[in-house]
Amino acid sequence: MKENKTTSGANFITTIIEADLQANKNNGRLATRFPPEPNGYLHIGHAKSICLNFGVTKTYNGTCNLRFDDTNPTKEDVEYVDSIMEDVRWLGFDWDDRLHYASDYFEQLHDFAVQLIQSGDAYVDDLNAGEIRDHRGTLTEPGKNSPWRDRSVEENLDLFQRMRKGEFEDGKRVLRAKIDMTHPNLIMRDPTLYRIRKTHHHRTGDDWCIYPMYDFTHCLSDSIEGITHSLCTLEFENNRPLYDWVLDHVNAPCHPRQIEFARLNLSYTVLSKRKLIQLVDDGIVDGWDDPRIPTLCGLRRRGYPPEAIRNFCDRIGLAKRDSVVDVALLEYSVRETLNKKAPRVMGVLRPLKVVIENYPENQVDELDAINNPEDPAAGTRKVPFSREIYIERDDFMENPPKKFFRLGPGREVRLRYAFFITCTDIIKDEKTGEVIELRCTYDPATRGGDAPDGRKVKATLHWVSATHAINAQVRLYDRLFSKANPDEKEEGKTYKDFINPNALEILDNCRLEPCLANVGPDYFCQFERLGYFCVDAKDSKPGALVFNRTVTLRDAWAKMKKKK
Ligand code: ATP
Ligand code: MG
Repeated sequence: MKENKTTSGANFITTIIEADLQANKNNGRLATRFPPEPNGYLHIGHAKSICLNFGVTKTYNGTCNLRFDDTNPTKEDVEYVDSIMEDVRWLGFDWDDRLHYASDYFEQLHDFAVQLIQSGDAYVDDLNAGEIRDHRGTLTEPGKNSPWRDRSVEENLDLFQRMRKGEFEDGKRVLRAKIDMTHPNLIMRDPTLYRIRKTHHHRTGDDWCIYPMYDFTHCLSDSIEGITHSLCTLEFENNRPLYDWVLDHVNAPCHPRQIEFARLNLSYTVLSKRKLIQLVDDGIVDGWDDPRIPTLCGLRRRGYPPEAIRNFCDRIGLAKRDSVVDVALLEYSVRETLNKKAPRVMGVLRPLKVVIENYPENQVDELDAINNPEDPAAGTRKVPFSREIYIERDDFMENPPKKFFRLGPGREVRLRYAFFITCTDIIKDEKTGEVIELRCTYDPATRGGDAPDGRKVKATLHWVSATHAINAQVRLYDRLFSKANPDEKEEGKTYKDFINPNALEILDNCRLEPCLANVGPDYFCQFERLGYFCVDAKDSKPGALVFNRTVTLRDAWAKMKKKK
């Protein structure tokens, strides 16, 4: 595939990094960070940022920190901290001893704020949130100065210390940078640096009741950690002047360079923590690890290998403009990885019983089956065959239309690795008329799957022996949204109006090859003709197996490429 070319990794960011390294900027050091806010679970969009930040430092021999950007105590939680660490490790990256929390810098950040006050670059404002908004102006109109803007340094220092001590209630006062209320970039119109929040913090407890804002915290945390290249998504482009302003106005240890790249958007899903939280809280999906949502724990439970996600991130490359990536490309990457690794087995999802009338009762044939045609080292296994088997309900039609080549009355088909069978009779439910059983004959001369007389059949079906099969529940997934771009504005509708009600189908009566009887939570395989599946690590129990379909075999991406 053509996309593979980008796997070499060259992009506008590596171009900048290479030039900086060559010019011996930062003494030839490269340091990046992945800075999640612990207010939700990571999703595949974050994977793009993780692969980029950890990936470039692998390529260019630098270091990448994991830093929790935990300055908003009302929304954050240790549950999220733990899940984020688990997910980054699962993706295959390691921060070694470089685990940091912005909250560890609260004292230093406070001192930087004091520096800004002392130099006359910050002031305590008594306006409330609404008044501050009213003073800000618009894109076309300049803002107005706060009446508190020209307080003396001494008064500001005093008030800021009293803010810290908890003398004022939430929202009563803020610390603002003194930049320019007429600045064309609204973000530069005296942005808030600190606000009062009398809230318990998951790490610093009740030590603080003032908390620094993102724009103040982020650049200084980068600087404290000696980050050289601060890679972030495009929505921070407007914040870059503030990033630079703060670092230029305090005595910062170093001045990292912020570079923006386009965030990942994926079709048929949403990638925003806020929306994912709503899906979870509203019970539209069953928790953060629901295999229908694009959280990393959801994808893991669905059976997506981390390698496939990394390959996908390589393939999409990096751009400076936002775009939507087709989810079919992600599915393609998953298939590509699983095709090489997944053992093939047979499973029947919607069983239809077949009795082979000329096959002796109590006889069992042990047939040889290939474990993985892509991997000769995977070898072969024995599959038991007996007088009663199950085939897929869909593989039989009483009145088959022209293009249906599988089983029908009087027709002969091949059973994979086994025999040719011919359908001789149909048994129906007396009341409903539903076909409940087929009667067939088999040709013993076709053992292994070929006829010695060279006669051909038009279809090969998967099957399992009824007496040997094990039962399982299988969960089939489809896209969570029925619309390619559920975020697109539509009169009177939100993304929640485009939920695909058929995104999950649970089949309780599946029959699988007996070799699966003892598989554990890490097991994955291909059920021949049906797709790639994995054991559901949460709900599967010995004796009560639950499988998830990771992805079908149908490759929409390859088809699309061909058409183009
Ligand atoms: P969301 O918009 O989903 O709430 P966020 O940007 O608020 O995400 P953070 O925890 O702040 O989430 O993200 C950590 C890092 O991951 C940031 O550097 C952010 O730019 C990056 N990131 C988040 N979403 C994406 C995405 N869709 N594509 C690429 N990078 C992303
Ligand atoms: Mg964020």
